[in-house]
Order: sequence, then C-alpha cells, then structure tokens
Amino acid sequence: MAVKTKKIKSAGRFGAGYGKVKSKLIEVESKQRKKQICPFCKGTAKRKAKGIWECKKCKKTFAGAVYYLQ
Ligand SMILES: [Zn+2]
Repeated sequence: MAVKTKKIKSAGRFGAGYGKVKSKLIEVESKQRKKQICPFCKGTAKRKAKGIWECKKCKKTFAGAVYYLQ
C-alpha cells in the first residue's frame, strides 16, 4: 500500500501547486532507473550517487547530471 505512493511522496515536498514540476520529477525518476551511457566509451554507466556515475566498461568515475545523463 505504502510502496504504491512512493513516487508521489518524493514529489510531494513541492506542494500541490506544482503539478507540472511533479510530473517532470516523476519522468526524471523513471529515467534514473534506466541505463546511462558513458561519455568516454559509450559503455554502460551506473549511478553511484547523486551526480556521480561509474562506467562498467572503462571503470571511469565521472560527474554528470544529478539525475540522468542523456
Ligand atoms: Zn566508459
């Protein structure tokens, strides 16, 4: 029951008047879960922390967009 509302909850801190921001945030959150492309070797990069990405292929750690790369 609680798990279902998780996405809304994370966007809920912006308040009810930010409907567009909320939907944008949900979009961003869904992008986060997808694989990201390493800018160096075009391999698969994994998000280590906010804005920190690690490439599985070339093992480079780099700073990128906070939520997703491309
Ligand atoms: Zn790479």
